[in-house]
Amino acid sequence: MTPLRIRREDHPVSRKSIDPDTLRVMYKLKDAGYETYLVGGAVRDLLLGRQPKDFDVATDARPNDLRRLFRNSRVVGRRFRLVHVFFGGKNVEVATLRSLVEPPDPEGDLYCEDDNQWGDIESDAFRRDFTINALYYDLRDFSVVDFTGGVHDLHERVVRAIGNPGVRFQEDPVRMLRALKFAGRFGFDLETETAQAIMEHAGDIHKASRFRVTEEIFRILSQTNRAAGFDLLWRGGFLHQLYGGWVRELGDQGLEETLSYYRAVDAAAEQDRFYPLEVLCAGLFVPLMDDLNVDRQHFNAAAARLTADIRKHSIAMDLPKRLTNSVVELLRGQLYLLFFPNLQGRVRRFVESPWFDPVWRVHELAFGQTPELAQVRATWLAAREKLGRPIGGLVESPDRRDIFSFRGKTGGGRHPHGRGGDEPEDDAEFAEPELVDAGE
Ligand code: ATP
Ligand code: MG
Repeated sequence: MTPLRIRREDHPVSRKSIDPDTLRVMYKLKDAGYETYLVGGAVRDLLLGRQPKDFDVATDARPNDLRRLFRNSRVVGRRFRLVHVFFGGKNVEVATLRSLVEPPDPEGDLYCEDDNQWGDIESDAFRRDFTINALYYDLRDFSVVDFTGGVHDLHERVVRAIGNPGVRFQEDPVRMLRALKFAGRFGFDLETETAQAIMEHAGDIHKASRFRVTEEIFRILSQTNRAAGFDLLWRGGFLHQLYGGWVRELGDQGLEETLSYYRAVDAAAEQDRFYPLEVLCAGLFVPLMDDLNVDRQHFNAAAARLTADIRKHSIAMDLPKRLTNSVVELLRGQLYLLFFPNLQGRVRRFVESPWFDPVWRVHELAFGQTPELAQVRATWLAAREKLGRPIGGLVESPDRRDIFSFRGKTGGGRHPHGRGGDEPEDDAEFAEPELVDAGE
């Protein structure tokens, strides 16, 4: 098949916008006589005029060739073998072109176990998930190579599965979440047959690896336009499928509240204000405070119930414990704001604690527009402003930490650059348990 080739003068992808280490690896491959492409999300993003998150390289060199060519490289992955080429602290990911994999058992399940059959650029394009993700930037002549109609679909702003969508979603149900992820992020539509196949196969999402599902869901919540992504997950039935208990507890009204929380996050991002993943996850649990009665209930009882509720749901949702602990503190902090605005000593101490700023961010996102809370808000804000330093609880740039970076013993979950307010030396910002003292 002859692909569409878009010449350099007819597309905006420039070497200047490609990460220099990636470019160095690509040139070395090209000079050694191999086909060398930039591929996947990076080409898509550059064609859309966006800054890619990472740069993937594809080549016809085999992993062993790559190991020989790059002395500081390592083969990673088993199901999907890649080579990491190390540069300083960074690594460039290089994949050998692959072919479509025959299902291991043609009679049985379409789920594929092994993805390491080498192939050419054409076969490599057709095994990819969506047309917009199957574009190649060819280092030989700087053209963009398109086998599947991806350039057209980028123009039309649609997410279209490559091949038969039903088959592709059965092979790998996570692709359905990926479709919603890209549709949400870019504000694209789902192509009709792709959308139909998602409706038809949403129930298959349980067959996918729980790990990959969780990863995709939280990618959606931490990317731009997360409200659109959340809405698609909701309307597509994936929230019900994956998080049934939580959905039943929140009800439609609670889900609306979470959606509007994410709208507020998106609006802030428009103004270059970004929140750490802990604050984003807190939005899932804010509606659990709905039946709170500050006049009748005791803080301790309310906090204990809220904590138990969050823990129950977050286990079912596969949230790492360290992330859950932070979310618990952020939500207990909400109770603190509501219960104690009239206790001067507590107000003074709480605004000085490292938890206050992120707690305040959650409050703004969830309740910033609630008129009944204007007085409460004014009290806390006045006390906080007396400290004479800016309110923190934000991060410099969109928080791209993987949710699984919260697993493991030490600081892996910390965002590299906190912003404003107090910057504690160790993990205290989010790891300190029980900062909000009980009783008094
Ligand atoms: P992002 O900007 O979120 O990183 P991406 O398109 O780069 O988006 P990755 O998850 O990094 O997505 O994957 C890189 C590429 O690998 C994709 O563009 C796509 O071509 C291919 N790919 C990823 N996951 C799948 C899958 N489940 N099935 C088929 N192809 C996939
Ligand atoms: Mg990527």
